[in-house]
Amino acid sequence: MTATATVRVMTPEEIASRAAGETPYFRWPQRQTLFAERAMRLRQLARGHAMGDFLAFMADLALAQHQALQDFPTTVPLPDAAALDRASQRGEPPLSTLDWPRDPAWQAALRQICSGLRPTAPAPVQAVLDGLLAAGGDHLEHQADRLLTGLMRGLDLASAPLIAAALQVYWTHLVLEVQRQHIGGGQPFGRPDDDASGVCPCCGSRPVASITRSEGESLGQRYLHCGLCNTEWHRVRIQCAHCGSGKSIAFQSLDTAELAADLDEDEAAARSARAAQAAIQAETCDDCGHYLKIMHTDRDPSVDPVADDLASITLDLLVAETGLQRHGLNLMLLFGEPDDGTDPGGTPPDPGGA
Ligand SMILES: [Zn+2]
Ligand SMILES: [Zn+2]
Repeated sequence: MTATATVRVMTPEEIASRAAGETPYFRWPQRQTLFAERAMRLRQLARGHAMGDFLAFMADLALAQHQALQDFPTTVPLPDAAALDRASQRGEPPLSTLDWPRDPAWQAALRQICSGLRPTAPAPVQAVLDGLLAAGGDHLEHQADRLLTGLMRGLDLASAPLIAAALQVYWTHLVLEVQRQHIGGGQPFGRPDDDASGVCPCCGSRPVASITRSEGESLGQRYLHCGLCNTEWHRVRIQCAHCGSGKSIAFQSLDTAELAADLDEDEAAARSARAAQAAIQAETCDDCGHYLKIMHTDRDPSVDPVADDLASITLDLLVAETGLQRHGLNLMLLFGEPDDGTDPGGTPPDPGGA
């Protein structure tokens, strides 16, 4: 097949606005540092944490993801120029989890991750790793389908984080490789027509959290971080990531959430001031009843959307008490009952049971 269509190139206005130091719409993951830095952050967060063992295992998993991403075969099929162009014109993600034909290379990445973790994993985890190493391709594809479509029914929750880890490596590789092959050929990924759509423009997944970044002349810009492919896309601040409304946004942090009625005025004021400066907050929307965490790199430069989301589950529990639903999707810790067939964004689990 000859690809005659051309990938969307930036307009002169877009080039000019870039040159003027305006906020880039996309921020791409870095192959050499993404998972290695996440592993470091997880190890740091694990120290003295109530979920320390879980976070330490997640650190090992992130390091295994790092290695798998470095070794990922560059021969896997990518969308061609015509497909990228078509997706861009329609405002659809070209690597949609719903219809992108997955290459079995992701299964090889899963086996590499499991083999790498096996020697140091605790006994119960070893059994899960052995199960995955022995599993057939059909079973793995079936589990991947459930994970990516948000179907909890029939999903094996013990192996889900490992399958998710391999799928993250695969999708991150796809995004990076599409980028690499189009260097100098314009932006291969289109910006969605509906800027308020709450899903990733590259793969259609939900964000795990949002993160503020200051670079060059753009200060404190907010990006949504994809829970699957690790792409970040710009979203103005004080706007709900679920419904796009900016009318009823509020922020909660562990300090505000713990505000007790019987605190004296000084202590309440002190907590409220700390809450406004918290590195991790929940951005809540009363219009649609959803929330998404926001992490501030100017308050803590080492925050990582996936790692810090896992370590701040207490905030989810407190926000859930007010009846709000999570918009963020963290594939490493699915929320919801295994057999209720609901979306895994629902109610957070009890960390004591994790
Ligand atoms: Zn994505
Ligand atoms: Zn909303």
